[in-house]
Amino acid sequence: MAELFEIRDVDRRTYEGELREFLPDRLVDVHTHVWKAEHQRIGPDAFARVVSWPSRVARDNSVEDLVEGYRLMFPGKSVTPLMFASVYDADSMPAMNRYVRECAARMKFPALIYAHPTWTGDALEKGIKGGRFLGAKVYLNLSPAYIPEKEIRIFDFLPPHQLDVLNRHGWVVMLHIPRDGRLRDPVNLAQMLEIETNWPKVRVIIAHMGRAYCDEDMGDAFTVLSATRNMVFDFSANTNDHVFEKALRTFGPERCLFGSDMPITRMRMRRHCEGGRYVNVVPRGLYGDVSGDSHMGEADPPESDTITFFMYEEILAIKRAMERIGLGRADVEAFFLGNAKRVLRI
Ligand SMILES: [Zn+2]
Repeated sequence: MAELFEIRDVDRRTYEGELREFLPDRLVDVHTHVWKAEHQRIGPDAFARVVSWPSRVARDNSVEDLVEGYRLMFPGKSVTPLMFASVYDADSMPAMNRYVRECAARMKFPALIYAHPTWTGDALEKGIKGGRFLGAKVYLNLSPAYIPEKEIRIFDFLPPHQLDVLNRHGWVVMLHIPRDGRLRDPVNLAQMLEIETNWPKVRVIIAHMGRAYCDEDMGDAFTVLSATRNMVFDFSANTNDHVFEKALRTFGPERCLFGSDMPITRMRMRRHCEGGRYVNVVPRGLYGDVSGDSHMGEADPPESDTITFFMYEEILAIKRAMERIGLGRADVEAFFLGNAKRVLRI
């Protein structure tokens, strides 16, 4: 049987030379998507409000593929994922949530329900309890269809009545913040602070370090957010070591968590920023024709032979940030394992 994906020399060199010793033997990955193509409906408007390049990496990601991906990328390590689905269309949610719940029970992995903003508080509560989920994953593309992408606010897809329920139970919510301004956006920052004040028992995980992928995305966000005490941040699908360094210094390493955003971090790519926009540079042709996507770029040999996994690029950036700060072994291990165990209570 063919391997799930190819491991090249550059990958082995990166892992053996830079990552194997740096990573603890056990990790928790707090940000993973698990779904089966047969459950996922992708309608014509699926990517109207979100980027489409992630769909080029994997058609689906069964729990078996997730585990196999870890085995290939992290030989000798054991990785526990926090899982949730990947939903473009509300109609596919019941089957996708059922699949995640079934995988969680079978593999004994923690999981989140994918919640729709139109659900009542009762429905959310029943869904989480019935599926033994730790909380909810919410996403901006489920906001009411009349709201233009640029105008979507956090409360459009994580409504206050659902925060009430999450707060009552002290449940987890995985929050990918919206808007073009990303982490520096004042509406995002105001609502993040509002959640912190009004729903203090919700365990909020801000995905992708607030989508601050380029230095320009930081603005004065870290000054504003230095007032927070509860929310934690996952570093998934982000490779910006300046942002990571700022976060580790502002929030302390104990509020920063390892997450990958599998399966998209299986992508072979190197990210750079051009005028405040991120560009994912991939070996030419490997992911089809990407010329129409302004977030994608291509490289030819010999440069393309030096491109390894997005996953490794993320961890290399984390390593650079931690080394600049001079974090010790205990903090490194907490980032990859202990903090997630504390936040998820597993
Ligand atoms: Zn994600």
